[in-house]
Amino acid sequence: MTKNSWFDTHDWNTVQHDIYATTTRQVERALGNTRRTLDDFKALISPAAQAYLEPMAQLSHQLTQKRFGKTIQLYAPLYLSNECQNICTYCAFSLDNRISRKTLTVNEIMQEADALKALGYDHVLLVTGEANQTVGVPYLKNAIRLLRPYFAHISMEVQPLDQPDYEELMAEGLNTVLVYQETYHQETYKVHHPKGKKSNFLYRLETPDRLGRAGIHKIGLGALLGLEDWRTDSFFTAAHLQYLERTYWQTRYSISFPRLRPIDLLQNDTITSKSFERCMSDRDLVQLICAYRLVNEEVELSMSTRETPHFRDHALKLGITSLSAGSKTNPGGYAVEPQSLEQFEISDERSPDEMVAVIRQQGYEPVWKDWDKTLMGI
Ligand code: SF4
Repeated sequence: MTKNSWFDTHDWNTVQHDIYATTTRQVERALGNTRRTLDDFKALISPAAQAYLEPMAQLSHQLTQKRFGKTIQLYAPLYLSNECQNICTYCAFSLDNRISRKTLTVNEIMQEADALKALGYDHVLLVTGEANQTVGVPYLKNAIRLLRPYFAHISMEVQPLDQPDYEELMAEGLNTVLVYQETYHQETYKVHHPKGKKSNFLYRLETPDRLGRAGIHKIGLGALLGLEDWRTDSFFTAAHLQYLERTYWQTRYSISFPRLRPIDLLQNDTITSKSFERCMSDRDLVQLICAYRLVNEEVELSMSTRETPHFRDHALKLGITSLSAGSKTNPGGYAVEPQSLEQFEISDERSPDEMVAVIRQQGYEPVWKDWDKTLMGI
């Protein structure tokens, strides 16, 4: 076990107490500041700030347009495998779930790629479970090599790897890695990740450092909102982001907001009634999106099809910069085996074309390529 200095600086209970003890005066001060700090973030995600959602939303909208213009980036996940050696209490692919397991062959990867290209995608997110024998670095390297000619931007959400592994995959064309801590509360993390390599909290926590040292283009962070108190977990995510931005300043960053919904919890008897109290309402999620934008004008904010059409349409103008659409969360879901079990149920089933129409209706331009690559002329 190694020490991670930024993490040790913050004590969970103290942070949680501070957030819930925030006064309206502290919220108003945070709103009035032009350069906002982590303390301001604490105030903006507090229950006291719920009364200020309207001004927060207006500010978030303005700041997002100033930095990103009226654009929404579109991407799609490509699930390569549902094999997994970990037990995670909230996931359909967990080792203890008796489901039929599948890893895409070379031909199947290409069929899925063709289907995504036909839908218009130029940015693909490769997803696997953690099964190093079947979907280890050689498999991922081959997949990236196959897909590189077809996609302008390749992201990956797979098991945490060592720095040399990332360097090897970047040489093949990997641009972005998403690695969500799930929860920054060590004890709760243990409860939800009892078996497999993922049970190593610190190895996961230090993954963005290994990526930063490897010089990756972009890192995506997030917590699975609802495993613990979402406000405290979000503070830790913001503190992690701040540390990484200062340390690996050449890397870009994005934040995602996967949240557990009551429906997810009802299907899982290992989750207790306490978990229901931790669920976020739509209002809470709006507050969180705006709070991130108010403290960080540069960070990309991403939203998946886990959220409902109604919420996603509304969130478009709040500060979100990137959306998935028409997603399939099962390996082979686009063309090879559309009926297999999905990792999680999606709420927004609209096709990419329908999503593009919604984006345009709201006065935004859909972007199929990752815009910073275009601007950088890579
Ligand atoms: S969340 Fe990831 S690591 Fe955990 S069971 Fe699901 S696929 Fe495996």
